[in-house]
Amino acid sequence: MENILLKPFDTAPFSQIKTSDYEPAFYAAIADAKKEIQQIIDNPDKPTFENTIEAMAFSGMQLDRISNIFFNLNSAETNEELQKIAQVVAPKLSAFGNDITLNPDLFARVKQVHDTVDTSSLTTEQQTLLAKSYKGFVRNGALLNDADKEKLREIDTQLSILSLQFNENVLAETNAYRLHITDENDLAGLPEGTIEAAKNLAQQEEKEGWLFTLDFPSYLPFVTYAKNRELRKEITIAAGKKGFQQNEFNNEKIVLDIVRLRNQRAQLLGYATHADFVLEERMAQNPTKVMDFLNDLLAKAKPAAEKEFAELTAYAKKLDGIDQLEKWDGSYYSEKLKQERFSLDDEALKPYFKLENVLNGAFEVAHRLFDLNFIEVHTIDKYHEDVQTFEVKDGNGDLVALFYADFFPRKGKRNGAWMTSYKSQWIKDGKNERPHVSIVCNFTPPTPSKPSLLTFNEVTTLFHEFGHALHGMLANTTYPSLSGTSVYWDFVELPSQIMENWVYEPETLALFAKHYETGETIPQVYVDKIKESASFLEGMATLRQLSFGLLDMAWHSTDPTTITNLKSFENKQFAETSLYPDVAENAMSTAFSHIFAGGYSSGYYSYKWAEVLDADAFDYFKQNGIFNKEIATKFKDYILSQGGTDHPMTLYKKFRGQEPQPEALLKRAGLIK
Ligand SMILES: [Zn+2]
Repeated sequence: MENILLKPFDTAPFSQIKTSDYEPAFYAAIADAKKEIQQIIDNPDKPTFENTIEAMAFSGMQLDRISNIFFNLNSAETNEELQKIAQVVAPKLSAFGNDITLNPDLFARVKQVHDTVDTSSLTTEQQTLLAKSYKGFVRNGALLNDADKEKLREIDTQLSILSLQFNENVLAETNAYRLHITDENDLAGLPEGTIEAAKNLAQQEEKEGWLFTLDFPSYLPFVTYAKNRELRKEITIAAGKKGFQQNEFNNEKIVLDIVRLRNQRAQLLGYATHADFVLEERMAQNPTKVMDFLNDLLAKAKPAAEKEFAELTAYAKKLDGIDQLEKWDGSYYSEKLKQERFSLDDEALKPYFKLENVLNGAFEVAHRLFDLNFIEVHTIDKYHEDVQTFEVKDGNGDLVALFYADFFPRKGKRNGAWMTSYKSQWIKDGKNERPHVSIVCNFTPPTPSKPSLLTFNEVTTLFHEFGHALHGMLANTTYPSLSGTSVYWDFVELPSQIMENWVYEPETLALFAKHYETGETIPQVYVDKIKESASFLEGMATLRQLSFGLLDMAWHSTDPTTITNLKSFENKQFAETSLYPDVAENAMSTAFSHIFAGGYSSGYYSYKWAEVLDADAFDYFKQNGIFNKEIATKFKDYILSQGGTDHPMTLYKKFRGQEPQPEALLKRAGLIK
C-alpha cells in the first residue's frame, strides 16, 4: 500500500490519510532529512552560503509538512490513536533536532561560512538566516570545549527535571485542596452553573453539599461572586500557598536551584545573566531595555491604579463597611462595581454578532486594508465537515493563500483558539509557494433554531486569530523558516492584537454588527459601553501585569548567590507595585509556572510589550483613518510580508517612522488623558 504522506502533495490530503500512515511517514521523512543534512556535510566543495546555509533552510521540507498536518490534527481533531503516535514520535523529532544543532561537522561548515562570507554579497534576509543558523548552534554550546559541553548538558538535564518537579508540585497542591461547603447560605452570590458544578464534584467525591477547588473554573467564580468574605479569604490564601507550605511539595528550593542553574548556563555561554541570554533573541534585545520599559509604564500607570484602588476601597466601604481592601476582595468588588456601572449583557449583544456576518466583516476589513478577496471553495480536501475553505486572492486575481476556518467545539478539539498553517510560504527556483493557513476556534455553535451568535469576546478572538492568519497569508519571504509568524515572540502578537482594535470602531461595526433577525445595526450606546468597560480598572490590572514582569526580570537578572530567601526577595520586588497588604503565608514565585515551568522566563514583559506595539501601531492608523490605504500598505510591506527576515525593531521603525511609544496604550486604557 502506498503512503500518501510520502508522495508529493499540495493541499493536505486529509481524506486519503490513514492513521497507520503517520508513523512510517515520520520515520521515512526523518531519514530523508538526515540524508539531506549528511549531503551538506559531505559536500567536497568549500562551504558557501548556498551549499550550506540555504541548503539547510530547504532541507526536511517533507518532514515539516507531515509534522504540520499531524500536530495540527492532534490539536483540532484528535483521538487516542493520534495521541499515542504523538507520544512515540515527539522524542524522535526532538532527537533529530538535537542531531542537527549538536552536530560538530555541520557546525564546522556553518562557522566557516559565518566567519568568511562577505555579508555585503548577501541580502538582508540572507544575513538574518546566516546569523540565525549560526546562533542556533552557538546558543546550544557549539563553541564550548568538551568539558563545558558536558557541563551544559548536565545543567539542561537538571533544569528539565526541576521544571517538571515544579509543575508536579503545583499540580499536587492544586489537587489536594477542597473548600467544602455544607451550609447553602455560604453559596450566596454564586452563579447557578458554578453551584451546579460544585454540587457535582461533591457527589463524585461522595460528600454532602458543595466542593470548590483551586482549578480556575471553580476558583475564579468563587472569589469573584461569593458574598461570604471569610470563605473568599480561605480559598484565596489556599491558592497563594501553592508550593509554599512546609511539605513535600514545597517549591522554594526548586525556584532557587532553577535560577542558579539558569545563571550558570548563561555564563557558560558567555552571557552576564539568563535574561541577557533570552533577550538576545527578542525585539526588546536586553534587560536594560525591558526594565526601562516596565518602569516607565509603572510610573505612568501607578497614579491611575492608586486612584482606582481608592475608588474600589470606598465602594467596598459604602457597600459592606470594609476599611481595608484585601487580596480576597479585589475580584469581588471589581465585578460588583463593573455590573453597577455598565450592566453589559452578553445575551443582549449576541444577536448583533452572527458568526457569518463577523467573518465577512473580518474579510471586508482585510479587503479595505490589503486588497484581499476571500472566495469560499468546496473543492479542497478537509479533515471535518465543519471546516470552511477559502481561496484568498489579491486585486489582480492572483492566489495569495488558502484559508481554512474551523469554528465550533467538538470532542477531539482542544480548548482555546489558535492560528496555524498546513504549508508555509517560500520562494524557490523563482516560484513563490503560497501558504495554507488555518484558524481554529471554539465558538458558540448554531442550534436548530438559531445561527451561531458570538459573544463580544468571541468576536475579538476571531479578529485576533485572523490577524495571525494575515501575517501568515501575506508572507513574502524566500526561506520558510523566516516566513510569516516565524518572528521573535515579543513581536508575534502585533499583527493579531492590532486587528482587535478595528472591532471597537463604529466604522467597522457598521460593516457587520447587524441584528441577525432585523438587520438593525448595533446601537451606539452598546458600542460606547463595550469601549468603556474594556478599560475598566485598567490601572490596577496594568500594575498587576507589571509586578509579574518585574518579578520575572528580577529572578533572571540578579546574581543568584545574593538571593537567600524567596519570600523576602519577592517582597522587595513587589514594593513598588503592590496595592493590597502582603499575606505572610503566601508566595507568588512558588506557583509561577509561566516562568519556572513554561517558556516565559525573562519573557513575561512581552504581554505588555505587545500591547504597547499594537496600540502604537493602531494609533498611526487612527491618525490617518482606520482604512487608510497608505498606512495599510506600509503595514503589509514592512511588517506582515516580512516575517522574521529582519530585526523587528528595524521593521517596526520602517513602518512607523519611530520606535513604539507607550502613550497610545496608556490613552486607550484611560490611564492618561
Ligand atoms: Zn495570539
